[in-house]
Amino acid sequence: MQASHIGRTLEQGVATLRRDDPELFALLEDEHRRQTETLSLVASSGGTDASVMAVTGSSIVNVTAEGYPGKRYHAGCRYVDRAEELAVARTKQVFGARYVNVQPHCASFANHTVMQALLKPGDTVLGMALDQGGHLTHGSPVNLSGKLFDVHGYGLDSKGLIDYGHLRELAREHRPRLVVCGTTSYTRVIDFDRVRAIADETGAYVLADITHIAGLVAAGLHPSSIDAAHFTTTCTFKQLYGPRGGLIMMGRDADEVSGDGKRTLSQLIQSAVFPLMQGSPEVHTIAAKARAMGRLLQPEFRELAGRVRADAEALATAMSRRGYEVIGGGTDNHIVLFRVPPHLNGLAAERVLESCDILVNKNKIPGDTRGAAVASGVRLGSNTVALRRMGPEQMDRCAGLIDTVLSHTRALPGGGVELPEDVRERTVAAVRGLCRDFPLPYPSATETL
Ligand SMILES: *Cc1c(COP(=O)(O)O)cnc(C)c1O
Repeated sequence: MQASHIGRTLEQGVATLRRDDPELFALLEDEHRRQTETLSLVASSGGTDASVMAVTGSSIVNVTAEGYPGKRYHAGCRYVDRAEELAVARTKQVFGARYVNVQPHCASFANHTVMQALLKPGDTVLGMALDQGGHLTHGSPVNLSGKLFDVHGYGLDSKGLIDYGHLRELAREHRPRLVVCGTTSYTRVIDFDRVRAIADETGAYVLADITHIAGLVAAGLHPSSIDAAHFTTTCTFKQLYGPRGGLIMMGRDADEVSGDGKRTLSQLIQSAVFPLMQGSPEVHTIAAKARAMGRLLQPEFRELAGRVRADAEALATAMSRRGYEVIGGGTDNHIVLFRVPPHLNGLAAERVLESCDILVNKNKIPGDTRGAAVASGVRLGSNTVALRRMGPEQMDRCAGLIDTVLSHTRALPGGGVELPEDVRERTVAAVRGLCRDFPLPYPSATETL
């Protein structure tokens, strides 16, 4: 095969990096080894395809292209225009959307942009509270969204399910201009239609941030928010396995006339992304989004999404069978949230598992008496293990490893943890074996170059 210009550029870049910057080069090699040799059960982790990485590493990065295709502020945008049009068209096809903006630098920016398009400082917003599973950008007081707007938080009921009744009460009481839904740790189906009905009743717009479940939505394994919400946002690197970046999408409300009586809602978003919020777009990332969307349109992606679901289900079952309390009683998506045994806390569990190359994160659970920095739960996710082609059998194995580690761990006063060395060694060896037998879809660190 003839080497492409991209391949030759990357090759030259790697050679220069290795020669001129051995310190950074070694760091990148170590990071690659870490990814290939550890078991990532972090719910927000995905895995970017090598072809997507190749796009982000190509010389398209050099194009400055403020504006939109056909309406740029610079010459020389012929090909980036086509790449952006391709990204938009494919994203529309993947999600069944009528309007898509592929320029947001990340999901956080996408959320801020929708808010800036619709709201004035001081306007009222309902968002899921951070400690109930909402995201920082849904109105947390430490985030710009919480500082600019009058935010009221809703959350979960005592069973750990979204309390739509309370959401409706809050909406009737505070008459928000925007209701934000979508979460970072919820394991059940989000009823976007119900949120929309509440918003319609009280005259609010709905923003659905589907960052965590976007892949399941794309594969038809979770109800879609595209037509239910006015606006849908997501990042492209978690469950869409693409580059780091964000999207704003709209369905049936795209052509609805906005409050000013002149522009449509999608026109508001278009001018809010640029020039209100952003300058020149990351054209290499936009091209990589096109590539990621191309992959989502392939039948293999449906298989992968199916595996994400099957693996999460198997993990939940395997943890319950070992006596762990799985929050919400199971899972409808890729996330499994469980209560850590009483002799530990979430932070201790996260640390001791990381020392065995099993990556998870501590997470608050409903009614948690501990703060978010310690927490009483652990959140698992199946995106990366499914990408490795692990199936339910391996999930039982993973649950067994987690259980062995946690049940042998002793919490020390002052927050430390102690695990017998032989347990650690056996677990690390088992993790190595699993990672070797189920490799990520790019070269492992031990393969000869
Ligand atoms: C991760 C996450 C984000 C932030 O995504 P970025 O692209 O990193 O800004 C926003 N919303 C939700 C629900 C998330 O889980």
